[in-house]
Amino acid sequence: MRIVIKLGTSTLAHATGHLNIRRVEELCRTLSDLKNAGHEVILVSSGAIGMGVGKLSLKERPSDMATKQAAAAVGQCELMYTYDKLFSEYNHTVAQILLTGADLRDEERRANFHSTLFRLLELGALPIINENDSVATDEISIGDNDTLGAIVAVNAEADLLILLSDIDGLYDADPHKCPDAHLLKTVSALTDDILKLAGDAGSALGTGGMATKLHAAQIATEAGIDMVIANGKSPDVLYRIVDGEDVGTRFAAKGVRV
Ligand code: GLU
Repeated sequence: MRIVIKLGTSTLAHATGHLNIRRVEELCRTLSDLKNAGHEVILVSSGAIGMGVGKLSLKERPSDMATKQAAAAVGQCELMYTYDKLFSEYNHTVAQILLTGADLRDEERRANFHSTLFRLLELGALPIINENDSVATDEISIGDNDTLGAIVAVNAEADLLILLSDIDGLYDADPHKCPDAHLLKTVSALTDDILKLAGDAGSALGTGGMATKLHAAQIATEAGIDMVIANGKSPDVLYRIVDGEDVGTRFAAKGVRV
């Protein structure tokens, strides 16, 4: 299986912005094992800005563009340094690709991305993709990594997109406010009622919320790719998803792969 896994800042970092070392170690071990089992893995990793906030000892996630871009420049280094170190322990080679919306809208740049990605997979490397936040202004950015994950899954012709988050999946009501909210196990169609469940919450360090995840589900399922939202607090969940177990919320692909 070719799997695209999106990791949110809330999965990778503590609320302080510093790396959640135990979590990231477990994730890298699990992803290495999935690769050893023959799966092709592509990571879409957030955390550049969050990690930069920690490293620069900023008090909170910046709202002005220059500080955000500076934080991303610092944090992206830290992120790749950590992935390189941890995946090397299991003999896997990581490769960084940074993209903006403008890269994906331009036919030639998109084709270059496609061929680099496929060559990396042929070479057995593990592509790690993020938005190029240090140059992406609002006009040219994709804006959130849930959407980026879905776009990458489509370009990679993936079999499955997994969004790991700090929530177990999509609920029929806001679980923070409604104690008897139910987790939806499968969503077979993104109806208006389902889209209304989005809300707008995101964490203090990350960007997405449920709205961006449902947007990602639209892009992926339209292209014939199943998508799962699951809680990244226990990276073991990845084995269970790949084994086809009922974990989190699964959005069923529409019709035949396009
Ligand atoms: N690209 C952003 C970062 O690395 C994250 C965007 C998102 O989490 O949606 O900090």
